[in-house]
Amino acid sequence: MTPLLILGAGPAGLAAAEAASRNGQRVILIDENPEPGGQIWRGGAKRWQDRRAHALWDALKARPGVQMRFTTRVVAVAGPGQLLLVQGEQTQVQAWERVIVCSGARELLLPFPGWTLPGVTGAGAIQALIKAGMPVEGQRVVVAGSGPLLLAAADTVLKSGGTLAAIAEYRDTRALAAFAGKLALRHQAKLAQAIGLFARLRGVPFLHGAIVQAASGSDKLGAVQLLHKGRERIIDCDFLACGFGLVPAPESAALFGCAIDNGKVTVDAAQATSVAGVWAAGESTGIGGVDKALAEGRIAGLAAAGFTASRADVQARERALAFGALLASTFPAPAAMRKTCQPSTIVCRCEDVRAGELAAHASWRAAKLQTRVGMGPCQGRMCGAACTFLYGWEATSPRPPVFPVRAGALAAMSYENSVEK
Ligand SMILES: Cc1cc2nc3c(=O)[nH]c(=O)nc-3n(C[C@H](O)[C@H](O)[C@H](O)COP(=O)(O)OP(=O)(O)OC[C@H]3O[C@@H](n4cnc5c(N)ncnc54)[C@H](O)[C@@H]3O)c2cc1C
Repeated sequence: MTPLLILGAGPAGLAAAEAASRNGQRVILIDENPEPGGQIWRGGAKRWQDRRAHALWDALKARPGVQMRFTTRVVAVAGPGQLLLVQGEQTQVQAWERVIVCSGARELLLPFPGWTLPGVTGAGAIQALIKAGMPVEGQRVVVAGSGPLLLAAADTVLKSGGTLAAIAEYRDTRALAAFAGKLALRHQAKLAQAIGLFARLRGVPFLHGAIVQAASGSDKLGAVQLLHKGRERIIDCDFLACGFGLVPAPESAALFGCAIDNGKVTVDAAQATSVAGVWAAGESTGIGGVDKALAEGRIAGLAAAGFTASRADVQARERALAFGALLASTFPAPAAMRKTCQPSTIVCRCEDVRAGELAAHASWRAAKLQTRVGMGPCQGRMCGAACTFLYGWEATSPRPPVFPVRAGALAAMSYENSVEK
């Protein structure tokens, strides 16, 4: 039997691979990154502080039926039961019968004047850049936007020697206090985590009810302009890390024809998608954090290997889904960012399309045809979600190939003799 493919080696993929292989299932774990861990555990085992990551990884390394393929991207369907994989210059057609899609999420980046200046990043993106070696020592950093990822990003900056000039959260003190109260009732471990982060960030100016208006600088970022409780504030900085939460990354599931609703891969109680033989787990099915990814990964891994999940896993998923719903209701994308985006603001940075060119169109499709929005290398991964927020358009998933590939890689799809059984 063809091994079970697991697409994505973040928490969901690692948990799925562990649960499936624990029961003797052969597994191939594929990820585009050079090391396992996905977003939250980015950077490989030497950086991990979460014991759950080490436990999963140690178990997987010890199992002979588990094969890992890193720096490998799944880019397209190569034919019935076949996927096209790309690793550097190499391409391969991989047969599949069952697959678990654990493709994660990406940041919601909302456009504002100056957001394309060098020095402006997403909140999660600055973490990824720092973990990849970008130095911030001695640099002044403002972390802005909305949601708990701001605190995690600020913590990473501080630990790496950066100076936090401010953390600017859109939600006001009352909304944050209500959020903390709800955490205390049902998610005490998350509250403890948040208290720990606040303790480490003691002394950093934390502005509640503040929103980014613009980033400025000549050839790179020099300052950020915020609106805080009705007053304008300008803060000099070298980096602005600005994010508004996460959106699922469903395009890998879309390759298999899985149903997607409101940007999330649709799954049933066993994490099965609408397509037979395809399961999905983690942030691609909806945003809920690492606990949701782990619980869903375990349930999907067991289901794909022919087993039923334990009651404890199902309860862990329920708790994590409730946390995801609380996050979504507390930190929706701030409506005020629609006003901040000016007609001259670039929305699609691949194709340099500005908001003023987009506003006249009625749909994502019409705008794509007329302006080339979403038709550059990122295929609308970034500007698609921004256009949904700004104009209410349903931005469809990137078309295959879901990542830019060389023409030669696509030609490989017809080489049937390269199919690995
Ligand atoms: C930028 C960023 C930073 C984050 N930082 C934190 C944090 O500090 N703290 C926190 O609690 N949460 C953080 N999160 C939330 C985090 O996504 C979840 O908590 C957790 O990592 C979700 O696990 P997952 O397995 O569902 O997805 P991920 O961890 O995102 O793993 C998905 C993996 O699939 C790979 N992949 C996707 N498509 C393909 C493909 N076609 N071919 C090959 N590989 C593919 C991705 O590269 C990735 O490695 C962050 C999210 C983002 C987007």
